[in-house]
Amino acid sequence: MKPHILIVEDEDAIAQTLTYALTTDGFETQHVRMLGEARQALQEKRARLVVLDVGLPDGSGFDLCREIRSGKHGDAALPILMLTARSEELDRIVGLELGADDYVAKPFSPREVSLRVKTILRRAASDAGEKRDAGSTFQLDRDAQRICFAGEWLTLARREYLLLKTLLERPGRICSRELLLDMVWGHDAESGDRTVDTHVKTIRAKLKAIRSDLDPIETHRGMGYSISPKFT
Ligand code: CA
Repeated sequence: MKPHILIVEDEDAIAQTLTYALTTDGFETQHVRMLGEARQALQEKRARLVVLDVGLPDGSGFDLCREIRSGKHGDAALPILMLTARSEELDRIVGLELGADDYVAKPFSPREVSLRVKTILRRAASDAGEKRDAGSTFQLDRDAQRICFAGEWLTLARREYLLLKTLLERPGRICSRELLLDMVWGHDAESGDRTVDTHVKTIRAKLKAIRSDLDPIETHRGMGYSISPKFT
């Protein structure tokens, strides 16, 4: 079966060249022009990847990116390739912060997009194939707002739960301190980068108490934190 790619792009000319390049490379595509249609398409058919334009008539592609990563449309790890206008430098950065897998700036060559799509899908497949040890994985229980690690429920303060949840929802992706502050503390002026580090330290100690041989939270100097997909 051909991998299904959802293209969300309001400019028909761009969508057509993308559709041509992707179908030539063996993908099956679906094109929608609005966020609303994209949400519906995600409910109806299981896409393997979404090519997502930032500027859409009924909103921003970033909103849909955030919704996907929050698990609202099924697979929270669904690969996303963002399309941005050249002037939107800031948008690009924000796009990756929100958990997009990659981005291309307009104008782009459709061939380049197709290559990126293949690279992202290959990476996603190898992440999924990484050997998982059932004794070292996390389980996120959103309803009860609790997290299990290596078979034991963690005793977490509210902020600790939210921080760990944010990392777990983005397996393999680096979450910057800014992103974590935003997701966990919102606009609380009292908190800063140090707050994030302190909370990570506490969470690490609680994980160590369960499995002293593992350190699932990785530190990326000057960039932030991540959790490898093999733990999720
Ligand atoms: Ca557009």
